[in-house]
Amino acid sequence: MSMRAMQLTAPGTLELRTVPVPDIGPDDLLLRVGAAGICHSDSFVLSLPFPMSDKPLTLGHEIAGTIESVGPRVAGRSVGERGIVYLCWSCGECRECLRGNENVCLAAGRTAMPPCPGLGPDGGMAEYVRIPARSFVPIGDMDFAQAAPLADAALTPMHAIRGASDQLWPGATAVAIGIGGLGHVAVQLLKAMTETRVIAVDVDADKLALATACGADIALQAGDATAAAILELTGGRGAEAVFDFVGADATAKLAVEAVAPNGAYRMVGLAGGVPGIDSGPAGGPGLPWGATVRKSYGGTRTDLLDAVALAAAGKVRAEIERFDLADARTAFDRLDSGAIRGRAVLIP
Ligand SMILES: [Zn+2]
Ligand SMILES: [Zn+2]
Repeated sequence: MSMRAMQLTAPGTLELRTVPVPDIGPDDLLLRVGAAGICHSDSFVLSLPFPMSDKPLTLGHEIAGTIESVGPRVAGRSVGERGIVYLCWSCGECRECLRGNENVCLAAGRTAMPPCPGLGPDGGMAEYVRIPARSFVPIGDMDFAQAAPLADAALTPMHAIRGASDQLWPGATAVAIGIGGLGHVAVQLLKAMTETRVIAVDVDADKLALATACGADIALQAGDATAAAILELTGGRGAEAVFDFVGADATAKLAVEAVAPNGAYRMVGLAGGVPGIDSGPAGGPGLPWGATVRKSYGGTRTDLLDAVALAAAGKVRAEIERFDLADARTAFDRLDSGAIRGRAVLIP
């Protein structure tokens, strides 16, 4: 049997190819894909000047679909169940996995990035995908296109927010920088799970309008005066938590300058920005005393289950633009030019 798959075939080259439907192992499921989200990481992989692997790679790590077949050793799953895919394909047995930290599985070594569909194993931008049965998370009757982005665009901010829970007390200020796929969900998660005041920051007025629609209390256009504006809004103290969903030099600098003493600065976006933190006395625009910096990767299985529960309860809803699988290139181009509102989702 054959299927269509959107594959990275050479650096910068995306091709819709006809390939065999994947075989599954005894502990796997075959999923008939209902929808696959497009992430900036996919865009990043597409921009790499060297090959990701020695064979064509099917992209896609935000996957929703229906179980088509079940490996012989899998218990408790049946054909026809609908779900999304937990993107950390970790060992499940090491010390970190047993503590629930599957996003930093020891088997992944110091990079601590467990195998992720579409970034190593073949992903979900196809009609079918092989997944480890452990990665399947049921979604009931949720729309596939709505559900797929939860796998990363909700999971990752959920984990970053949880990791700053000590700072997110009622009345605290949280800043979300970059209102794209992750950022617009982050604003909703903050409003659903905390009693914080949420400040959204973006360069684009449409993205700020989306942030406001998602519940942000204040929307700030990013510019030279953004850090000063945040300090002004917080009595000169800074925001208790700053979530940077861009991760560029400018946003890293903003996070350092806008976070409060003992505050939480969470690097989520992967743009390679350098925050310029030094060990001198705190003061001026540098990192204040007690503030912590964490590079937050993905999330735990619990984070995903909780994100799905919030979505099922109607508290969180991904803003999506649908594209046919064959139109992935158009979707990527729109994403790269900043034109996507929320998340682009491919429908095979
Ligand atoms: Zn992603
Ligand atoms: Zn592990």
